[in-house]
Amino acid sequence: MRNKLSALAAPLIVSILVIGTVIFSAGGFALPPKETDAPPDVSGTPLPSGEPSFPPLPDNLADSAVMLKVKDEDNVIEMTAAEYIIGALGGEMPAAFNAEALSAQAVAVRTYAYYTKHVSGKHRDGGADVCTDSSCCQAYKSKDELREKWGNKFAEYSYKLQTAVSQTDGIIMEFEGKPIFAAFFSSAYLATESCRDVWTGDLPYLVSVDTPETAEAVSNFITETIVTTDVFKEYILVNYPEAKLGNDHSDWLSDVEFSENKRLRTLKAGGVSVSGTAIRKIFSLSSTAMEIEVTESGFLFRTYGKGHGVGMSQWGANLMAGQGKAWREILTHYYTGIEFNVPGEPFAGNPQEA
Ligand SMILES: [Zn+2]
Repeated sequence: MRNKLSALAAPLIVSILVIGTVIFSAGGFALPPKETDAPPDVSGTPLPSGEPSFPPLPDNLADSAVMLKVKDEDNVIEMTAAEYIIGALGGEMPAAFNAEALSAQAVAVRTYAYYTKHVSGKHRDGGADVCTDSSCCQAYKSKDELREKWGNKFAEYSYKLQTAVSQTDGIIMEFEGKPIFAAFFSSAYLATESCRDVWTGDLPYLVSVDTPETAEAVSNFITETIVTTDVFKEYILVNYPEAKLGNDHSDWLSDVEFSENKRLRTLKAGGVSVSGTAIRKIFSLSSTAMEIEVTESGFLFRTYGKGHGVGMSQWGANLMAGQGKAWREILTHYYTGIEFNVPGEPFAGNPQEA
């Protein structure tokens, strides 16, 4: 019900993107991606001259020897891990990001695919290893979709993505000999979130660590979302019918608890406890890191960063790469206590698969 609800809520809630103190727009709020990171100099490397296909991958890649069954809507497509990782990378991270951030992301998407295939098995019943739905597994873009998305940058960007895949060929992150649940997200305010504070369960490698994003360095870092009293009341009551929301909305919220990094942990709405993650979902907020203001007409949620906050921050990875950090350093920063391994196929880390 809550998923449905937040989808319904979206058109009724006005979001305003704020960078620093400048309000860019209300309503049509898509800003162009920030070109903070120039692509690496590949002038010494021969690039394909605009032909509409990817340059050939190097021979003998471990990723070319692993096949993945990828569920795309009603179809299951079999492809090499190399093909899948390039498409997932193109779907999940801006190709303009720094090379080492793209390599870190390549390891994360490869690890996630190994995790769904060998550990969670969430698509096993459907005869697949992983799917292309970003709300379930990871985004994936076909070569045609990437060609359309990148336009005249296709040759340059496909080369960058292939380099990220071949540079990290076959490498995944493991914890206690198994592929990790390699969660990632767009950006966070000062620190990532521990798994247990966002989802049920605790994973020792998904714990809060510091992250370098700022409003100056990250596109659309701060978002203001205005929720009128009518909308607030309607959407809270559908989810929490026992909430008592009287005439004066300044009384509606109480016991509001934040973490030291602005994360809304819990509040009471009309006397009923609601978690920060539930508030984020119900009102389609970018993040649980926020300030809440009571206004004359309702509530203003000013959020910092974008995404659930667990695992690797993509913007953080890009900023770390810009500071000269290599992909291994980036990943060991965001995923605590992990090891790198090249398991290949059949998967050596799981006896059931051997
Ligand atoms: Zn899936």
